[in-house]
Amino acid sequence: MPRRRPWARRTAATAASAAALVALAVPAEAATTTTSTSTTAQAAAAADVDYATWQQDCQVVMDQALPYLKQRIAATKPGEKQAIVFDVDNTTLETDFGFSYPQPANKPVLDVAEYAQEHGVSLYFVTARPGIISGVTDYNLKTVGYRVSGLYVRGFGDLFKDVATYKTAQRVDIESKGYTIIANIGNSATDLSGGHAEKTYKLPDYDGQLS
Ligand SMILES: [Mg+2]
Repeated sequence: MPRRRPWARRTAATAASAAALVALAVPAEAATTTTSTSTTAQAAAAADVDYATWQQDCQVVMDQALPYLKQRIAATKPGEKQAIVFDVDNTTLETDFGFSYPQPANKPVLDVAEYAQEHGVSLYFVTARPGIISGVTDYNLKTVGYRVSGLYVRGFGDLFKDVATYKTAQRVDIESKGYTIIANIGNSATDLSGGHAEKTYKLPDYDGQLS
């Protein structure tokens, strides 16, 4: 099965969110693409996991991340600028469970992000969502409580790279701004492979059911 595009899937999943996203994005190309992927939406909308289980499984991972981050932040070296990199869909936002716009924050991850941002850590978001909905995504993240230092979305040229290569390149770019990436948090293997983070934390994707 070809890799699904979560943004397209979400817009196709409910009429309300489709209307909201298309109204906020530039409609011409987005509407065409969304229509063409509507058949994958139905299969994708039904992950074999309920919301409570997903939240518990996310909490287990964040219960490991938070003590590490507390210790690592406390040990900030002189002059060190710390950053955490997050995936967006089904990591920082409830993409497959939050059928509304703005999409709600994934609470266990937001709790960790809030601790970090209140202790001087910059939050960067790297998503395979296309640039056309960059503004919508940035607004969504900020509205639900994340302090966004930077949001990387895929440009046209990036669409021809595989996701892991694209995401790794963005972490290299963040490092080139002088940041030390103390953690990289995502729910897909392609969020986390490729290095350029001191630690990685893998949230569930249930064998690829959650993008
Ligand atoms: Mg994801």
